[in-house]
Amino acid sequence: MTKLFSIFGDPVSHSRSPLMHNCVFKALKYDACYTRTHLLDGTKLKETFFALGLSGANVTVPHKEAAFNACDEVRGFANTVGVVNTLINENGRLIGYNTDADGFMYAIQEFKNIQKILILGAGGTAKALSARFKQEGIEVSVLNRSEGRLSYFKDLGCKCFTWDTFELEKYDLVVNTTSAGLKDEELPAPLEIIQNVLQNSNYVGDAIYGKLTPFLQLAKEKGMIYKDGADMLLGQGVLANELFVNAALNKEDIKTQMQKSFLY
Ligand code: NDP
Repeated sequence: MTKLFSIFGDPVSHSRSPLMHNCVFKALKYDACYTRTHLLDGTKLKETFFALGLSGANVTVPHKEAAFNACDEVRGFANTVGVVNTLINENGRLIGYNTDADGFMYAIQEFKNIQKILILGAGGTAKALSARFKQEGIEVSVLNRSEGRLSYFKDLGCKCFTWDTFELEKYDLVVNTTSAGLKDEELPAPLEIIQNVLQNSNYVGDAIYGKLTPFLQLAKEKGMIYKDGADMLLGQGVLANELFVNAALNKEDIKTQMQKSFLY
């Protein structure tokens, strides 16, 4: 019987997940279909999931925390951050995972010898990434525009700065997790700070995808090795698909086919 998958979000019409997963299912002849579900009320997630007869799902903004609460069982890293982005129907039980941060780790695996990272921004993405980096024993510094959200990172053992208090060090990787550059042409911090940071970093990443942000533009001009958020999106998608098909497909094949969906 054809398996059905979906993504839940509000909004959800922009999501690339249906295209990414359907590309894999079609190319690898896996009998499944992936759709999208516009869900307004996160507390209705579980009943909607089962009413639709889904085998699995992804969850995006703003329901990732509601998804965590809806699960019968949460596995792995999702327990650390209290955020679920992948759901699996395991014999009528709702099992939750988080593939966002692992997807990022997967995306940066070609960056060698990462021991010290600077994260720009202190939102949800920064939280997940910093917790995952700390698990790997990586030293993490966080630089944010404002002070308010930094306490989570202080508790995690990160060095925390605002633009006024920033103390420059050398980094193996700097990652922009702010939304600066998403719908505007802003940098994640004042130009002078960004110039100094790039000068003292080996690799550069950005969570934003679909455009070259002013931040990555600077990295490009300096001839640095950089990655935008497309690889992060791809990484979380590959890991979610592996869970959907219960390891019936080869991970590299999933990656190859999912990557093709980025051409459309
Ligand atoms: P949040 O809203 O949780 O956090 C946003 C952060 O950006 C805050 O720290 C905020 O600082 C900072 N910020 C916003 N505007 C500016 C600005 N103009 N200058 C400097 N700092 C700014 O966002 P998320 O963590 O959910 O998402 C962040 C980005 O990551 C988005 O662009 C999103 O599209 C992208 N993303 C990509 C994914 C992928 O798969 N590639 C997955 C998830 C997210 P302050 O605290 O001062 O307000």
